[in-house]
Amino acid sequence: MTARTELTDEALSDLTSRGYSRRSIGKVLSLFAAAPALGTALAGPAVAQEAKSMVLIGANECWTGPLAPGAKAAADAIATGNRYTGSQREAFAQALSSVEGVPTSHIMTWPGSSDPLSRIIVTYCSPTRGLVTADPTFELAGSVAQYLGVKVSKVPLKADYAHDVKAMLAADPNAGVYYICTPNNPSATLTGLPDVEWLLANKPAGSIVLLDEAYIHFSEAKPGAYLAAQNKDIIVLRTFSKLFGMAGMRLGATIARPDLMTKTMRYDGGMASFALPNPSLVCGTASLTAAGLIKARRDEMIAVRSKSLALLDKRGIEHVPSDANFFMVDWKKPAKEVQAAFAKENVAIGRSWPIWPTRSRVTVGSAAEMAAFDAAVVKLNL
Ligand code: PLP
Repeated sequence: MTARTELTDEALSDLTSRGYSRRSIGKVLSLFAAAPALGTALAGPAVAQEAKSMVLIGANECWTGPLAPGAKAAADAIATGNRYTGSQREAFAQALSSVEGVPTSHIMTWPGSSDPLSRIIVTYCSPTRGLVTADPTFELAGSVAQYLGVKVSKVPLKADYAHDVKAMLAADPNAGVYYICTPNNPSATLTGLPDVEWLLANKPAGSIVLLDEAYIHFSEAKPGAYLAAQNKDIIVLRTFSKLFGMAGMRLGATIARPDLMTKTMRYDGGMASFALPNPSLVCGTASLTAAGLIKARRDEMIAVRSKSLALLDKRGIEHVPSDANFFMVDWKKPAKEVQAAFAKENVAIGRSWPIWPTRSRVTVGSAAEMAAFDAAVVKLNL
């Protein structure tokens, strides 16, 4: 997002009419001015993995770079990097539209998904309309809401680790945003689309369902884009930071009825949506249509994941069933201690969540990286 020092009259009256105080309007401004740096900081320390000699399996990144056709398209685009962006955004939208079966009018591009996620909270939540999330879940929505003084209701996952949509609605029947992350970070579990449809049919007027599908390509589940094509009150978030291996290239998309996203642009004009680097756009376009390579990468991850999970099973270590490139392991002792022990073995596993203090999130790395994880599990006698 671009740095802005003042809001338009329209944006100001929108925020004031929705109950934002002078102080929280100042916070909206700083959020748009400082993001994505602020967004990353609010999201927590998941990306703080600096040590190059470590096995990095803590930040839910892909273990390898972009798919081959994407990498080639990006490299070719560097050679013509002297030219401004032309038709690359339209080509990307065309490709995503054909893969997802949604009109191009419903697709917007972004530098990853943290930016749209944050602006969606500003737009649909307010001091009078809260946010409802699962617990545990990806924390950025909750962090932005908390920063803005918005009420956050956290609802534990069900026993099968799906979102409890009925309890989510009951927790705040007049919320502005119901955030559903599927597969959910950090549990790596799916929430069925019938539950999402139920929430859409029963939620209050003026609210939206925010469906974060960051990890959907690592699962075999049906995506929820068809609900956006049906013009429901839903915004589907996609990122190329995960299976597509583009976390450092910053590309994401929203799929939604156009008016739902237009509203989110009024604070800063939505500059970030239009100013994306060509190499990222063409890389994304060439990647998302490479169905065979997507499947091969998913299958590779599943095979590697199964091996490590089998070792945990053999040793009687509990873990949550996973539908993504990470899994939660229950060490039955403080996860922070176990994480520190792994670090001594040069393996950087992920963190725990407050509701699950004895569980660590482990990202599925390459076969070699997971062999190092397995070896550390044995050596540490877990
Ligand atoms: N949504 C979920 C569920 C995530 O786990 C992440 C990052 O880990 C994001 C969104 C934001 O990622 P990015 O801004 O790289 O698209």
